This record gives sequence, C-alpha cells and structure tokens, in this order.
Amino acid sequence: MPMRKRYLLTPGPTQVPSEVLLRMAQPLIHHRTPEFSQLFAEVQRGLQWLFQTTQDVLILAASGSGAMEAAITNTCSPGDRVIVVNGGKFGERWLKICAAFGVQTEEITVEWGQAVTVEAIAQALQRQPQAKAILMQASETSTTVLHPVQDIAALTRDSETLLIVDGITAVGATDIPMDRSGIDVLITGSQKALMLPPGLAFITLSPKAWQHTERAQLPRFYFDLQKERTEQAKHTTAYTPAISLISGLHEALQQLQAEGLEQVWARHTLLMTATHAAVRALDLRPLAATHPSPAATGVWLPPTVDGVRLLTYMRDRMGVDIAGGQDHLKGKIIRISHLGYAGPFDIITAISSLEMALSRFGVTLTLGSGVRAAEAVLLPRWPAVE
Ligand SMILES: *Cc1c(COP(=O)(O)O)cnc(C)c1O
Repeated sequence: MPMRKRYLLTPGPTQVPSEVLLRMAQPLIHHRTPEFSQLFAEVQRGLQWLFQTTQDVLILAASGSGAMEAAITNTCSPGDRVIVVNGGKFGERWLKICAAFGVQTEEITVEWGQAVTVEAIAQALQRQPQAKAILMQASETSTTVLHPVQDIAALTRDSETLLIVDGITAVGATDIPMDRSGIDVLITGSQKALMLPPGLAFITLSPKAWQHTERAQLPRFYFDLQKERTEQAKHTTAYTPAISLISGLHEALQQLQAEGLEQVWARHTLLMTATHAAVRALDLRPLAATHPSPAATGVWLPPTVDGVRLLTYMRDRMGVDIAGGQDHLKGKIIRISHLGYAGPFDIITAISSLEMALSRFGVTLTLGSGVRAAEAVLLPRWPAVE
C-alpha cells in the first residue's frame, strides 16, 4: 500500500493550521517598522490573554529550553539552592541547566507516570527554607503527567521562594492562571499548544520574580530579560526577531481567541478522555492513570511488543507519527498527542492506526474496539440534527 499522506500526532512539534502556514509564507517585513510594531503589540496582547496575566509576556527566538535557561540565569546567583521536581525528561533538563550554571539543587524524584505531591514540596521547603526557587513542569510531556501547580503555588506565593513553571505543554491546553494562582515564572514554546513550528519561546515573570532579577548574578547576554522587557515595552525586540513566526503567531492567537480559552481547554480535556477510553477498551494501561495531562496520553504497550519497531512501522508503513518513550521507557510506551491543532478525528486516526499496527505485531484484539470507545465519548458532544 503506497502511503504518502503523513499524520503528525506527536506532542511537539504539533500540527500547524494552513492559515498559519500561509501567513508565514508572506513576504518579510522589516522588524524596525511601525507595521511590525503594530503586529507585535497585537501579539503581546494575545499572549497576555493566553497566559492569563497582566505582566509582559516576552518573546524569545529560541526553542522552549532557551526560556528555561533564561528563567534560571535571570533569577539565580552562583551557589544558590533551588528545589527541582524531577519526574521525567523535562524535570531532568532543569537539573542539567542548574548544573551548567553552578546552581545547587535539592531534587524531588517522582516516579515516571506519577505526579508530585504538595506534601513532598512542603517537606522540601522545610528542609530548604532558603531555597531561591522551585523548578517544575506543569505538564511533564515525557510521562504525560499533569502536576498540581496551582496547589503548589499556594505554598510559595507569600514567601520569598519563586515558583518557576515550565508550562510548555500546559499553557493553551489547560487552565494555568499565572496571576490568580501566584506563579512567578511561566514558560511555553511555539511548537506545542500554539500550533506553530518550533523557534519561539515565551516567558512571563511576576513582580516578585522581576525583583529577583535585580539581584541575580548568573552570567547572561542573549537571554537578558530586563533588556528584552525594555525593548518589548516599545513593541520591538532586543535582537532580530523571528519575524515570520511572529506573523504566524498573530494568526494562531486569532484562531485560539475565536475558539475561546475555556473551549480550547475543554477540547483538550475531551480528546484526552476519548483517548483514555480507547486505550482501556484495548486492554492497555495509561502511563499516567491518576494525573493525566491534557496534552498527550502515554500508553503501556503489551510486553511482547517492541515499541521502537512498532512506531517505525506506523511511521514508515502507515504515515502516522506518534511519539515513543524515553530512557527506561523507550520501547515500552507510546505517547498519543491531543495537543494544539488537534480534533476528534486526530484521535480516531491515532487509535485506528494503533489497533491495526498492534494487530500486525501479533497482539490479539478486536479491531475497532478502541475506536468505538472513543466514538462513545465523542458522539454525545456533536449537536443534535436540526
Ligand atoms: C517540548 C518541551 C520543552 C522544550 O523543549 P524544546 O525542544 O527546547 O522546545 C520543555 N518542557 C516540556 C515539558 C516540553 O514538552
């Protein structure tokens, strides 16, 4: 069967709507012009809406990790101690950035697939009352877990300790109210819920976090957030911005605004629910059973199936790209994305192709049982016929 059509169903990069692609294909405008500044100002307002904040949301030309690095170098000094929630690949990334900059870490290790508990954070804060910051993910994409960020913010909001949140697969997928819950630093990237190609990172700081930037001694140049804030207040950037991506962002934000923030979150939750129903109907187990992320669903494969070969087969033979597991979960799990520009039939495609591929790999299952369970969740959401 010749298979030319490709389906990108990974939790980053995610699919990009054609209207966004077309906006990015337009001729470049120069970035030191009133025309660009107007575009930039509209995008800034849209980002404040998305982040639920009145603070400036800074736009950086980097992948998401650039904003993670910026969060640390702009708030910490050499020898500072921070608390890191390490429950997956992206939690590990916080540790690596801290190590690179000489920041001491108190690590909270969380089993992959589990969420950190508020008690574990409270205990770490008791051990390290001087901790400069807590570094965590809102949605740990590698394990498809949603951590209880808002409850944790209640512990830090009236203290000197900053709560620095990698919201890269949470912002635009679930309710993560920066100002209302008292998060100090919130980050996302373009290739996730924002429905864009990779290349932009976004970061916003609370007034408390801005105060910390005055004292932070770590070296920084490109990611100097005070300098960026000064420039971006004038609707421009310190260095050449990723102009085409910012045009695409303008379109993507308009699409999200037309849908409505609550509706965007509800769509992610619905697709997550349908995916979980399908997975259970196939007698498979979700990796994150108790605190699932609305961005993606990790699924344990039957032990007889080599997940690496399964995913290669799905990609090369079926044209369907879904994600696998990392490190000790490599080959053992798959991750189905429902993030960003995703709708009900993306889930149907993912489940249907998974059923057929598993069948090809010798797993006994009833074809259509996963699809049927997903449809049972989705069907009541379609409007009645007039
Ligand atoms: C994608 C992602 C990142 C950033 O990775 P980049 O490759 O630098 O964009 C960081 N944290 C989480 C939770 C992610 O999903």
